[in-house]
Amino acid sequence: MPLVNMRDMLVHARGNHYAVGAFDIVSLDLLRGVLKGAEACRAPVILNFVVPQFKYYDVEMLMAAAVVGAKRSPVPVAIHLDHATDPDGAVRGIRLGCNGVMFDGSHLSFEENVKRTRAIVEVAHACGISVEGGIGIVSGYAREAETDGVQGMYTWPDEAQQYVRQTKVDFLAVSIGTGHGLSAERPQLNLERLARISRVVDVPLVIHGGSGLSDAESKCLVDRGVARINYYSSLSLIASRRIRSNSFEDPNGGYMALLQGVSETIGREVERCLRVWGAAQRADAVLAAAAPWNEVEHLIIYNVEGTTEQQAEAMMAQGRRVLAQVPGVRRVFSGRAMREGDRYRYCWLVRFAHSKVIDSYRDHPEHMAFADEWFRPCATDRISIDYQAVSAPVEEAALEEDSAVKEG
Ligand SMILES: [Zn+2]
Repeated sequence: MPLVNMRDMLVHARGNHYAVGAFDIVSLDLLRGVLKGAEACRAPVILNFVVPQFKYYDVEMLMAAAVVGAKRSPVPVAIHLDHATDPDGAVRGIRLGCNGVMFDGSHLSFEENVKRTRAIVEVAHACGISVEGGIGIVSGYAREAETDGVQGMYTWPDEAQQYVRQTKVDFLAVSIGTGHGLSAERPQLNLERLARISRVVDVPLVIHGGSGLSDAESKCLVDRGVARINYYSSLSLIASRRIRSNSFEDPNGGYMALLQGVSETIGREVERCLRVWGAAQRADAVLAAAAPWNEVEHLIIYNVEGTTEQQAEAMMAQGRRVLAQVPGVRRVFSGRAMREGDRYRYCWLVRFAHSKVIDSYRDHPEHMAFADEWFRPCATDRISIDYQAVSAPVEEAALEEDSAVKEG
């Protein structure tokens, strides 16, 4: 299951002088196309979910599909939440399946940006999740009007260094002349500034707005320490052109005719980018260097004493409500034994995003209050165990079983 730790992936990219692509996922066609492109050239890849785009699709559904796609992909994949603006948004992204988050405080004052980034880093690191911070404004999403002209938006090396030291972010998005979206104007890249930032900042650097760059320009960025390039607008344009041409060729075709070849077209462009950025054929090295991303199942089996059935039901309902809000918790199940004579009558199954959540969950005030006031007083007879969950998608497991039967 090559869902891997994003920090390990990008540290490998920086150390080996190439950049991983982070491609925005806004539909199943994008998801399939991006994975196809990465798999075709054996490159690591990041599936990017951008908060300002959430109004266009159901993020819960689409991120679940991305988790399935990542787990069955033969290349290393990470799932990122981009442009979160508060800790609650980051916690929601972690709950839905991402293993990296970006906090976009670039429009804030330096002090306020540091303060809010630190709050996100604290929550995310306690869940094992990597954090990208940003300093300097990349046009397109943030409020440029609040800054004093284009040069005021570029990242200053000394500020970048201070920001990384004070916030402990794992990656840094820098502004050196790229912009979100497609613009008629050529980007005014400040490569000298980028080289200076790269010398004083020791975390992987991220570029937003990769679509406006020529191949030569993006290679210059990679040569100066950029380990991840966010790329979407060109993919969106290529996909929409394909849909328009399908419609022109078959004006009476249905929905499937309209989408014919869209994910393949996206895949070819993704593959082309990954080759230019030097990420092709890096999959095996990243799989060897990066920790696999495994969730943890926190299991409690118990019996209740001195309480009625209704009180037990109320306790479980309260637990489902409260525990699901703890950062790093992805799912809460409460269960009852199916057979009368079973040794333990009740269970909790709480799914954690990462093994780090074992500690942060235990000490979280909401969890402690629930355990002390509701759970422990009635559930004196209990067993609690954390299991690392390694799963294969059902189809893959069936294939393994088939080959085992044949071999046997
Ligand atoms: Zn961005």
